Amino acid sequence: MVFSPRQLTVVSGKGGTGKTTIVGSFAALAENKVLADCDVDAANLYQIVIPEIIERGDFLGMQIAVRNEQLCTKCGKCEEACRFDAITVGQVNEMACEGCGFCTLVCPENALHMQQMSCGEWYVGETRFGYLVYARLIPGAESSGRLVTMVRQKAEDVAMEHETPLIIIDGSPGIGCVATAAIADVDLALVVTEPTLSGIHDMERIAGVIKHFGVPMVVMINKADINEENSQRIRDYCRNNDVELLAELPYDPTVTEAMASEVPLVEYRDGPVGQGIREAWSKLEQILDV
Ligand code: SF4
Ligand code: SF4
Repeated sequence: MVFSPRQLTVVSGKGGTGKTTIVGSFAALAENKVLADCDVDAANLYQIVIPEIIERGDFLGMQIAVRNEQLCTKCGKCEEACRFDAITVGQVNEMACEGCGFCTLVCPENALHMQQMSCGEWYVGETRFGYLVYARLIPGAESSGRLVTMVRQKAEDVAMEHETPLIIIDGSPGIGCVATAAIADVDLALVVTEPTLSGIHDMERIAGVIKHFGVPMVVMINKADINEENSQRIRDYCRNNDVELLAELPYDPTVTEAMASEVPLVEYRDGPVGQGIREAWSKLEQILDV
């Protein structure tokens, strides 16, 4: 039988719900796993697990027009042809170029060609918790589901190579293509939410995406004690939708100190939040059978 690692993705409907704090603690609790930070717009898991980079590569994005100034006679035909106002006789605007290639066809001097641009870098790092795969987009580059897919594929390659039974994915917040690319085809999605009206709304939206992909889902409430009424709404949602509520973590202001101190919360301070995360992890081990 072909070896295939189990995959858990941790997502939230929006940023700032404590998702990475939880994934950082799972990194410390899970025995044998590969970590994949697919929050490519704001990757920060590396700040908790501190990788030593052992492999890196370019993430190539779309093609844009590049001009050979030696050949250009400044005739202006490319400027006339470009529907996106991305090229003048003076310069090519890389941010505006849509990569259609039309200007290369009209240039009488063959002074233009298309070139694939680097939009970011991916990394494989070794940490004291196992391997971490992550990526960084060049500032201004469009976030990309393709980069998330690349990070996931690298994580799978590493897991296959080392026969690691589990991949823990830190997903992107929201429901855009970057978030959905971290959900497709995983074995379980954990939604981290907060008891606010927007938190509930965001949870319901991401739950719709998870359901669309046919992925089983569980929920954790972070800062559950800041609003009992809304926490009860989340409990009701879980019960009505047959979703397991793994844990309710209380509010603890020292959680942000753990992030700043660059160690997983369960190592920094094993208070009620750490305890809740430990209990959630034992349940996840059972659900994932790892
Ligand atoms: S069409 Fe070609 S030669 Fe004319 S301005 Fe553009 S790049 Fe230069
Ligand atoms: S590739 Fe298309 S969008 Fe880019 S500069 Fe040429 S014509 Fe304009």
